[in-house]
Amino acid sequence: MNPEPLGLYLHIPFCSAICNYCNFNRGLFDAGQKVRYVDALLGDIRGPERAGLHGRAADTIYFGGGTPSLLEPPEVARIIGACREAFDVAPDAEITLEANPESVDPAKLAALRTAGVNRLSFGVQSFRDVELQRLSRLHNAGRARAALAEARAAGFDNVSLDLMMWLPEQRVDEWLASVDAAIECGPDHLSLYLLEVYPNAPLKDDMARAKWSQAPDDDAAAMYVAAMERLEAAGYEQYEISNVARPGHASRHNLKYWTDGEWLGFGCGAHGTAGGVRTKNVSGIDEYIDRVARGLPVASDVRRMTAEEHLGDVLFTGLRLTRGIDLAMIRARYGVDVSEKYGVDLARFVDAGLLRHEAGRLALTRAGMLLANEVMAVFV
Ligand code: SF4
Repeated sequence: MNPEPLGLYLHIPFCSAICNYCNFNRGLFDAGQKVRYVDALLGDIRGPERAGLHGRAADTIYFGGGTPSLLEPPEVARIIGACREAFDVAPDAEITLEANPESVDPAKLAALRTAGVNRLSFGVQSFRDVELQRLSRLHNAGRARAALAEARAAGFDNVSLDLMMWLPEQRVDEWLASVDAAIECGPDHLSLYLLEVYPNAPLKDDMARAKWSQAPDDDAAAMYVAAMERLEAAGYEQYEISNVARPGHASRHNLKYWTDGEWLGFGCGAHGTAGGVRTKNVSGIDEYIDRVARGLPVASDVRRMTAEEHLGDVLFTGLRLTRGIDLAMIRARYGVDVSEKYGVDLARFVDAGLLRHEAGRLALTRAGMLLANEVMAVFV
């Protein structure tokens, strides 16, 4: 059995409105459906499908979405309570809840803190109102700033925010204005994502209609590099391709995804990985509720990874971390000499300045992070 504690992921698929760029598994908020869904989550956490893992140590709980801040604090408390009953959850577990700025107020934040949430991750995306409107977000920059301040006042000492770059019409200096505004708010952690415009996203039509375009690729690269430099100068450490944190504030839950960790996924569409088995739950909200009610398995996809897949996955995800991959650990755990197995391909990237091979570790350089998919393709 893996000695590392589990992570527990809970998917909350409800949103007050659907953003024009969104590609997540979510649906419009419906109060009655939400009540049934919370009951289903509780049933799933306690249910027979998880029985083999009940009692195992866990040290992170993560409410992701969707918009988990649409849950009422007592619902959050019941879900955390069920996790604590079913698993051996550490007293100092990291318990994160993703929140949208418009869906919280001081009273709700205080109640979430009392319910046991100790880390908030705000979906801010931009500190420029015109950009937030183009993304059809419901909040404005003022509301985002206020939500962060309210979180501090409610006693949260671990707050993260998400920003998105390469937005329609966004110039490099406009992006950096959002980065500066974020730094001014003083979060403990930030995640920076590149906007991806999916072929069937309503944003694509909005862009065509309004004649909005995205800056050239070179500008996107400049946005990324300049933001990382600015954040480092402000005291944040980049620890993953898209994530920076003040020392000691890296996301313990998300680190499990990149360090060969194990986690269970509860809720519709949630993924899990434990004991070399990868699971994915049914995507539909009603289907998930129905399966739990009828005592049917919620996982629609259960796959034992081959040793080769598992290794590829560990290398692929490990390379996302700035500290890279510990080659001795890979040799000890998987009996594979990475340099021998992938040497020729890797040497090509080392020569091109995209990879660093030093002190027994293999890591992407910042230039390599811009071309990460190309480099990582070696392992899959
Ligand atoms: S709030 Fe997040 S999950 Fe919900 S629609 Fe917008 S981007 Fe998607």
